[in-house]
Amino acid sequence: MKYLVGNWKMNQSLEEIASFFDDVQTNDNPNIQSWIAPQLLHVGNCRILALDKNIEVGTQNISTNDSGAFTGETSPLAAREMGVHFTLIGHSERRSLFNENNELLNKKVKNSLKNKLKVIFCIGETLQQRESGETLAILKNQTLKGLSDITGFKDIIIAYEPVWAIGTGKVATSKEIKEVHAYLRDLTKEHFKAEIPLLYGGSVKPDNVQEIMATPNVDGALVGGASLKAADYNKLYNAMK
Ligand code: PEP
Repeated sequence: MKYLVGNWKMNQSLEEIASFFDDVQTNDNPNIQSWIAPQLLHVGNCRILALDKNIEVGTQNISTNDSGAFTGETSPLAAREMGVHFTLIGHSERRSLFNENNELLNKKVKNSLKNKLKVIFCIGETLQQRESGETLAILKNQTLKGLSDITGFKDIIIAYEPVWAIGTGKVATSKEIKEVHAYLRDLTKEHFKAEIPLLYGGSVKPDNVQEIMATPNVDGALVGGASLKAADYNKLYNAMK
């Protein structure tokens, strides 16, 4: 199975969304999962528009709780009621701008699984960490802490997103992606006894997606900027086909 996942962040007007779903290709390939995470207020609308296209809709963040006095939070229970299929957890913007740490993220993962949401758990090193040779140790720590005490990995996907490659146009080289994904494959097999899908994210574009997808142990792409326009998204989708 291959995964194409668009992270729209806090972008897209209703008009842009309508135009995206008018023009986006229907996912008619049983070997590809085509998923979009719009901003929260647009989830309901996207869910309706995406149905015809066989595209699943997700949230970009989720609460550690199901209901109660948690003003401003997103309940996984309510997400499930809305037909939400998955949630991103641990995107680098959540980690750096909203101070989300591995312990909190682990609670979010557990609560999502409890509510039958699939989880795309994002990990990645900063440029400083890469340059000081800490990449694999950082990824190990994020993975083992974020996914600790979980039984059953069928709803977990890991997205490796080097922080320095997100929204910068600076994509990791095939060699860098190959090294990290081989490491993550071994690590997850050893610790979780599971073959967890591994996505790459960070400046994936129509002109580099083929090379990235041809890298061993890459099962898909998590895409920000290039997922916003149907024309680019279709190119990514067709490259995956
Ligand atoms: C992302 O936000 O997860 C991402 C990978 O963004 P971009 O593709 O724009 O680098």
